[in-house]
Amino acid sequence: MPKRKCKFTVELQSKLPCFKRGRDEWEAQCLVCKPGTYVSVANKGINDLQTHVNSDRHKKAVQGEGSSMKLTEFFVKPGSKTEDAVTAAEGTYAFHTVNITIASRP
Ligand SMILES: [Zn+2]
Repeated sequence: MPKRKCKFTVELQSKLPCFKRGRDEWEAQCLVCKPGTYVSVANKGINDLQTHVNSDRHKKAVQGEGSSMKLTEFFVKPGSKTEDAVTAAEGTYAFHTVNITIASRP
């Protein structure tokens, strides 16, 4: 009798909302890592997803490396003070970049 494969279920998605259904029902797509990052859940189900979440590749993606996703859209609620802080930090960074560009001109 063949071993039953784990499927990516709505229940799994609600526990780990950074995943959505992959190319088939035994696969999840990671929304944090770059597009096309598929994680098979066929063997261990949610454990497969947790292994991926704990991987260095995923952790780097959470930090903004190799991801085109805007982190502020996912972790900051619109209108919150945190969002203002992020916007201010981005503005400061842009300001410094402009200054450096001007200063380095001959
Ligand atoms: Zn990931």
